[in-house]
Amino acid sequence: MSEHRETEDKERTNPPVGLTLSQLIKKYPDTFRVRGPRIKQVALTFDDVPDPRFTPKVLDVLKKEGVKATFFAVGTRSKKHPSLLARIKREGHAIGNHSYNHAQFNKLTLDEFRDQVERTNRILKSITGQEPRLIRPPYGEINEEQLRWARKNNYKVVNWNVDSLDWKGLSKEEVKENILSATGPGAIILQHAGGGVGSELQGSIDALPEVISELRRKGYTFVTLPDMLGVPEGK
Ligand SMILES: [Zn+2]
Repeated sequence: MSEHRETEDKERTNPPVGLTLSQLIKKYPDTFRVRGPRIKQVALTFDDVPDPRFTPKVLDVLKKEGVKATFFAVGTRSKKHPSLLARIKREGHAIGNHSYNHAQFNKLTLDEFRDQVERTNRILKSITGQEPRLIRPPYGEINEEQLRWARKNNYKVVNWNVDSLDWKGLSKEEVKENILSATGPGAIILQHAGGGVGSELQGSIDALPEVISELRRKGYTFVTLPDMLGVPEGK
């Protein structure tokens, strides 16, 4: 009995670490999402915004096509380009939290992780009026302790199940192929609308109108992640 108690206490203060992402997705299916319900809907998602080199071009395409998407914003970039973040919001897209400075969460302590999320949410709220409930971890990396904190604080952590690999500077045809070959009902598609020094996302931007028209032809509609997952966009 006492031995059992001891084990429990230990687990409480020191949650098990080291589960893989796919194990975490299975263990926390409601908090950690990589796809939506298997109906003919997809969500386009764009990371690393706002970036004046690429984000306006992505927004122009989406406006022309009449598609709403979800953008994951970095705190430092949002501080630097608030009007571009405001444009994303004004044009009807959803905004999620992509950390303060693109830190790799699973290398951070819980306090550092919490600071990344909360600091960024304060910045996003000061610009858009809303604190996102969606977190996308940079590189998709998060650990169990952080996931538990997210669950307790009513966040959803959202990765993807279709990776365009556009950050590699791929051509329009390559990006199109990566997306269309892997997309099925409920897909969450990862692209970028911002990047580091020397990033080239023109292939990804050029692929977008054709990806949209091809998926429409196949009967898909486009939804934001809050709509797909049935969660509020912010508070
Ligand atoms: Zn990123």
